[in-house]
Amino acid sequence: MSHIVVIGAGQAGAALVAKLRSSGFAGDITLIGEESAPPYQRPPLSKGYLLGEMTRERLFLRPESYYAENGIALRLGQTVTAIDTRQRTVILGDDVIAYDQLALTTGSTPRRLPAAIGGDLPGVHVVRTLADVDAMAPGVTAGRRVLIVGGGYIGLEAAAVAARLGLHVTLIEAAPRILGRVACAETAAWFRALHAGHGVTIREATALARLEGDLRVARAVLASGETLEIDLAIVGIGVDPETALAAQAGLTLDNGIAVDAGCATSDPVIFAAGDCASFPWRGRRIRLESVQNAIDQAKAAAAAMLGAPVAYDPTPWFWSDQYDVKLQIAGLNAGYDRVIERPGARAGAHSVWYFKGAALLAVDAMNDARAYMTAKRWLEAGVSPDPARIADAGFDLKGLT
Ligand SMILES: Cc1cc2nc3c(=O)[nH]c(=O)nc-3n(C[C@H](O)[C@H](O)[C@H](O)COP(=O)(O)OP(=O)(O)OC[C@H]3O[C@@H](n4cnc5c(N)ncnc54)[C@H](O)[C@@H]3O)c2cc1C
Repeated sequence: MSHIVVIGAGQAGAALVAKLRSSGFAGDITLIGEESAPPYQRPPLSKGYLLGEMTRERLFLRPESYYAENGIALRLGQTVTAIDTRQRTVILGDDVIAYDQLALTTGSTPRRLPAAIGGDLPGVHVVRTLADVDAMAPGVTAGRRVLIVGGGYIGLEAAAVAARLGLHVTLIEAAPRILGRVACAETAAWFRALHAGHGVTIREATALARLEGDLRVARAVLASGETLEIDLAIVGIGVDPETALAAQAGLTLDNGIAVDAGCATSDPVIFAAGDCASFPWRGRRIRLESVQNAIDQAKAAAAAMLGAPVAYDPTPWFWSDQYDVKLQIAGLNAGYDRVIERPGARAGAHSVWYFKGAALLAVDAMNDARAYMTAKRWLEAGVSPDPARIADAGFDLKGLT
């Protein structure tokens, strides 16, 4: 009987094992995860769960009983420390598990501030795991002063939650503007104004020199020498793909674990999916950090492991919730040379369309589900609308579909 072992019990790992079973795989499956919680969704960690509006149980992707009921050996709280590709075994603690095929869904690891600048002081948090948020939540209370380090989506979401909970929020971003790696200046300006309207102080081109405090973090010293008194800090400065095991196993790495269009690594019986994997996409190699990618790439990996590979060619999508704004993003904006802003039909709705020449690349839609849905359909179909029409706010998008 064939045995598939999956390392990493997160969004992709859970999707992969479920797909194996729903596709009729009757062999053994073992899903190994370092965290103690059964596979759960991370997006609410910086949104509803941190806000206290969502219970822990609702984070879980499936009831824990699902795994036993479907013959999936779920080994939680266990870290795989090595892979022996010759023997086809994985090592965790004193245990050695043999595999016929292996999948790596090891996710990514948040970048932390170095201990030398106070990154390890109590009261300094990252937002990656349920345990991170459970440790942080008691300190996220009204009246406290929080410093958010990093103006990407995680930092902005944490700022929004903290502001809603009544904290005094300062967000610093070392780069010239927030969302510098993921969105255009127009979208960044829209979110800057949104946060300002909720009393969040956003300081761009502002670098942190160090965090200080005796028993716990008490102040931030900026590169300018200015000092901010704070009660806690939340660090959202990006993630790195978790490739330690893949490196030890000698798999090819290239901005993550390099896989082919069928999710196979450089070892033909080892596959990878999710945040940890980079894959060929329309002439280049990309790596995505999103729920869409974790699920869809995991399903593609499962198909390949069952001998029916499909070329993984996604139309990426992503979302972010801040206050009462739902941002939905379709496509990838890399390489854009033109941006068109478009007010939505409803008050407060707005969208930003990225073009390269005449080709539509991506859309950021703020409280504008119609713009998002329309753009996503076009991107999936490989169709680009006339930019002049998009720029005409009076033109109904329905007329273009
Ligand atoms: C706070 C937050 C908010 C987010 N918001 C959004 C959002 O709004 N929209 C969106 O699309 N995406 C969002 N994301 C991103 C999304 O959650 C990730 O892209 C997704 O979880 C990736 O799934 P994954 O399975 O690749 O990795 P993960 O879900 O991180 O799972 C990887 C698992 O592997 C385990 N692991 C690693 N190494 C080992 C080992 N050696 N042995 C055993 N286990 C190991 C890890 O402990 C982890 O549990 C958010 C992420 C975070 C952290």
